[in-house]
Parts: sequence; C-alpha cells; structure tokens
Amino acid sequence: MKITKADVYVFSTSRNFVTLRLETEDGVVGVGDATLNGRELAVAHYLKDHVCQLLVGRDAQNIEDTWQFLYRSCYWRRGPVTMAAIAAVDMALWDIKGKVANMPVYQLLGGACRKGARAYGHASGTDLESLFDSIRYEMDLGYTMIRVQTSVPGINKLYGVAAQDQSSGMRYDFEPANRGDWPVEEDWDSAAYMRHVPTVFEAVRNEFGPELPLLHDGHNRLTPREAAQFAKSLEPYNLFWLEDVTLGENQENLRYVRQQSTTPLAIGEVFNSVYDIKDLIDNQLIDYVRCATTHFGGITPLKKVMAQAEPYQIKSGFHGPTDVSPIGFAAELHLDINIHNYGAQEYMTHSKETLEVFETSMTFENGFLHPGDKPGLGVEFHPEIAEKFPYEQAYLPYNRLADGTVHNW
Ligand SMILES: [Mg+2]
Repeated sequence: MKITKADVYVFSTSRNFVTLRLETEDGVVGVGDATLNGRELAVAHYLKDHVCQLLVGRDAQNIEDTWQFLYRSCYWRRGPVTMAAIAAVDMALWDIKGKVANMPVYQLLGGACRKGARAYGHASGTDLESLFDSIRYEMDLGYTMIRVQTSVPGINKLYGVAAQDQSSGMRYDFEPANRGDWPVEEDWDSAAYMRHVPTVFEAVRNEFGPELPLLHDGHNRLTPREAAQFAKSLEPYNLFWLEDVTLGENQENLRYVRQQSTTPLAIGEVFNSVYDIKDLIDNQLIDYVRCATTHFGGITPLKKVMAQAEPYQIKSGFHGPTDVSPIGFAAELHLDINIHNYGAQEYMTHSKETLEVFETSMTFENGFLHPGDKPGLGVEFHPEIAEKFPYEQAYLPYNRLADGTVHNW
C-alpha cells in the first residue's frame, strides 16, 4: 500500500494550523497534526523540505518502521520541530490503517477501556464573583471537573484568565498567541501569586464544596523551592492536580516538590520525547502525564509512555488546548478510550471556522468525550476550505519581572 502523495497545509482560521495529508495508491487519505504554536512554519518546512519526499513510495502499513526511520535516520533527534513533524506522519498512518481496516483507531490499539473520556473545563475570573460565575458556566456546559485560574493583585496580565484581550477574538485562555509580528509582553511576580492563589482556592471550596475536582496550572514560573511551598499551601483544598508547578527541563526539580507535598502533580505539555519524562515516571515523581500526541511524536510513542506509567499508577492527562488541531485531539481521544491508566482530558472547543475545516465525529456529552466510531481518526479534513484562511504570523506572549528581567511564560 504505497504512499503516492504527501501535502502540507498551513492556514489560519482563528489560529494557525499545520496539517499533513497523505494519500495512498488506492486513494485512501490519512491526516496528521503538525501544529507548533508560534513556530508553525518551521515544522511546515521540515515536512515539506525534508520528509514528504521520503514518504512517497513507502508502504503506508508500516507505522512503527516509518516512525523509527524518521526518528533515527535524521541523526539530529528529538526537539519540538522534529517531533511535531514525526507526529503528523504517525497520526496520518494510523488514520489510513483505521480506514483500511474499517475500524476506529482505538479498536486497533486494543479496544475500549471506557465509554467516554472525562474532560475538564476552564474557569477563570478577575475577582471571586466573576470566577464563581465562570465555574458555574463551565458546569452548565456539562463539565464535572474544572481548572481554576485567577487574576492576581500586583500582576497586570496573567496566563489563563479569559477576560484578557486577544487579537483574533478568541478567549485569551483558549488562545493566548496574538497575531502580529512581535510577542505581547506580560508581567510576573512569584510572591504575589503564591500569596493570592491559595486564598482563591479556599473561597472556591467554601462556595462549591469538597467534591468538585479542581485543577490549576502554574505554567512553569516558580523555582523548585517556591513550587514546593506552593504545592504544600494548596493541600487543604485537595486539588485533582497541580500542573507545571515548576520547570521539568531538570527532572530533579520535581523530586524536591514531591518530597515536600502530597498535592498531585501533572507535567509534560512541552515534552517531546520519552527522555523528557522517563525519570519522572520511573521515580514516581508525578501523577499525570500531560504530553500531547502532536508534540510528542504521535500516537505510537505516547501509547508506549502510558504503558511505562501503568505499573506506577501514573495516569494520563493529555494536553488539549486549541493549538492541538482536531486531528491531534482525536488522536489523544483514541488513546484516552483505549489505555487503562486514563486520568483526565483537557478540552477547549475550537472555533466555528476551524470545525468547518476539520469535520470531526467527536462528541462531548455530560462532561465526557468520545472520538466516534468512524474508521480511522474520525476527522475529515477539507483543504479547499482551509485555503480560504491564509497563514498569519502569531506569537505566544512572554514575561518580564518588575526589574525588566525576562521570565518563563
Ligand atoms: Mg498547561
């Protein structure tokens, strides 16, 4: 089953996407997501200039061999650009295999372990009143677990708060990348954040009771010592998880946090290979794997990582923001339904225009997601609609401290 065509599409509905479309000699089409927020063109060129010609003539059936070939033959392994490109090929080949077998991908992976994947919604507020309204709104949509982000006195512009400006008109917390040729500057104050956030979780628990699963994203801003103190200060509010409380580039950072606190830890959205996470799993330093199929090399390696995590009772919590296209998201959902050690799935709705380009069989009912039962990934890609939305430069924001020092965003 030879691949005869490999095409890359770059377009901007409410945000930029990079999509790989493969076609076989029998006319079977497979699609993959290669979107790397703020660096989209790098992956598009990696695919167009270095990968597509290697795919034409290859057997579409050999997913594992193709993955290993693209990973090992380039010599320069890993990195977000390389791994997003490999991810797109991997997804497209699983899509093709599913269509040929006339089965949804989760069946090829071993079948369903659950009826649906419980998703969490995103609530935020500039004060307690607007935060409580936002939590109620998300619960009305059906979500039964909620991520809580809040404005902090002393910080002007802060990750995760929906009410902030966004140039494309999307909710800021759904798409913080702004269109334009320069990243927006935001500000940061670790002490103010660490003082304020526990008071907000206390208020949320008082208002909504002890049962509602609550999550929070620290977005990599704290030092390991600050992170440990912060995780400890949130213990009374019994979080479902605390995400990216400190950087994972040095995996030892998480050991320090782990030794000080029982708050569950989630990390991995910027990881792109098994080497970024293997020590965290083997040393049981985390509770949830936040990697995304799109940035981690696809379904093939993420399935293996979750198998590595299973004996330690470490669960999934795959990254699902709007910069994971509906194709990448579907790839995650098929894994969610299949793996035994499922934890939670992040979910944000894509814009109307995006969902016209990507026609998906996915459903969201009563807080649970399902990828549908169409053969393959269940996403039909419409390049003729995508081409109506040309690429627009966009950058994620960056942070400076009060003295002007650049800080982690
Ligand atoms: Mg995050």
